Amino acid sequence: MSGVQPTGNLHIGNYLGALVNWVELQKHYEAFFCVVDLHALTQRPDPAALQRAVREVAIGVLASGVDPDKSTVFVQSHVPQHSELGWILTCLTPLGDLNRMTQFKDKSVQQPENINAGLFTYPILQTADIALYRAERVPVGEDQEQHLELARETLRRFNFVYGETFPDPQTVKSQAPRVIGLDGQAKMSKSKGNELGLFETDEETLAKLRAAKTDPARLRKSDKGTPEVCNIFSYHGFFTPAAQREEIAAGCRSAQLGCVDCKKMLAAHLEAVKAPIRERATALREHPARLDEILAAGASKARAAAESTMQLVRERVGLRPAP
Ligand code: ATP
Ligand code: MG
Repeated sequence: MSGVQPTGNLHIGNYLGALVNWVELQKHYEAFFCVVDLHALTQRPDPAALQRAVREVAIGVLASGVDPDKSTVFVQSHVPQHSELGWILTCLTPLGDLNRMTQFKDKSVQQPENINAGLFTYPILQTADIALYRAERVPVGEDQEQHLELARETLRRFNFVYGETFPDPQTVKSQAPRVIGLDGQAKMSKSKGNELGLFETDEETLAKLRAAKTDPARLRKSDKGTPEVCNIFSYHGFFTPAAQREEIAAGCRSAQLGCVDCKKMLAAHLEAVKAPIRERATALREHPARLDEILAAGASKARAAAESTMQLVRERVGLRPAP
């Protein structure tokens, strides 16, 4: 089980940190992947923009290789059990645990005019997302590790108080669990404007790369560079084959290769990954009814699984159906 927020354009951090593992894990496990629109409400999006983003992010998930015949792909709010279990788990989570969450602190700085309670309880709803499907593996980026630790503690508490119900969800990290943003400062984020988008054209990517910072000590092409401290070189680590990467590093250190050429090489390798994803996304956009069908089927499968967990949960906590 894993989710992604419809809060902006999917980027290479989402792809490398989470989506590549979604595509891999669906081959071996029963998988649930979800566009978490309830979580996105914590950023108070414009309603029409939210609806568009839900579809675009779902398209991105599918275009990245998640196969709706293998995995259950759905929208969180189509399964009301997420909110219901979220409340039950809210009543089991100590305030002190939530107070330690660094994402809450980051988001509070990012949106100081809207520090709402949903931002604070965000990891509890995330715990419900995982628990509803009694998930054992959760493929996410490193930024979610702290939330996953909280989820494990909360579910262990549930099991202790009400009896064994949920498995311990393990974090599954990829080879690139923390992709830094184009600003070279923070992790790449949809909502920070520091992203390399998954749907961007080659020209758009190149324009962004041109403006991106490299080794700060390398002011002129004739200065020798240090690839290890260059954010652009870190991206080569994800997209460029090892032998060519060595050549680039050597060219940078000896000042034979300039930053502009290095960025062009990166753009070409990025394009090799993005072009097929962009093409599949375009095809999906042309068939909105197909996307509706996938999301309807996903919601129906997810609701059935979620309801079966909730019947057990309601019984365990003492909530009985109406007579
Ligand atoms: P937002 O800025 O709205 O929080 P986001 O870019 O952080 O958006 P999310 O929807 O919050 O994206 O996260 C989706 C998945 O992508 C999560 O598994 C998260 O850990 C992963 N992820 C997000 N950013 C990165 C990154 N820079 N590097 C690696 N993985 C990432
Ligand atoms: Mg995020």
